[in-house]
Amino acid sequence: MIDTHSHLLDDVFKDDLDECIQRCKDNNVNKIILVGFDRITNSKAVELSKKYDIFYPTAGIHPEEVKDINDLSYLSDFINNNKVYAVGECGLDYHWTKDNKELQKEIFEGQIKLSIDYNLPLIIHSRDAIEDTYNILKKYKGQIRGVMHCYSGSLEMAQKFLDLGLYIGLDGPVTFKNAKEPKRVASNIPLDRLLLETDCPWMTPTPFRGKRNESSYVVYVCQEIASLRGMDCTEIEKITDKNAISLFNI
Ligand SMILES: [Zn+2]
Repeated sequence: MIDTHSHLLDDVFKDDLDECIQRCKDNNVNKIILVGFDRITNSKAVELSKKYDIFYPTAGIHPEEVKDINDLSYLSDFINNNKVYAVGECGLDYHWTKDNKELQKEIFEGQIKLSIDYNLPLIIHSRDAIEDTYNILKKYKGQIRGVMHCYSGSLEMAQKFLDLGLYIGLDGPVTFKNAKEPKRVASNIPLDRLLLETDCPWMTPTPFRGKRNESSYVVYVCQEIASLRGMDCTEIEKITDKNAISLFNI
């Protein structure tokens, strides 16, 4: 099984990263996309991936981190000088910060162009900004590939992102009892466009909700989607592994 969106590089794992990785291996989670989101974590993703072969690093500027960025020459240089498997996470987030929408859009669009230039998939974060995210992405239809990470929108909106050729990444919220729409999305999107994620240390699935999330818990996301679709976990694993390998070239 593959966790296609992990932040095991976060400081909360600094004391037991080896144990976390061992739990992944014990649970048959054998590949992890290690997602950077600012200068520090992009470097950390690359460094940790040299040390642990389970990791595949990415580099990007998260919308909450755009304030210190004047242009994307840093990111372009970084991608040039380091082996990364995706651009991102990047995107739009109007949840906490609404007063820099134009800057967020500019930095997002710059990263879309970088992903096209470097022929890398995009990892797209969108929170309280789904229409703007879609309107920017659709300008690049036919040129982009990537994933709507931790997708939290409607099934109807998911269809529009699928029409752009994107994958849908689902995480812990799909396991929450009251999560009607994520369950509807998980039950209905085409399986060949589904990716499993944790977004750890956040988005912890049931039965560990409220505690720290970690990559080995991706099995709970898989189990829930399998049960929603009346399928075996191993079938979902097989299909989503294939999707992840093909999108990220891992
Ligand atoms: Zn993330």
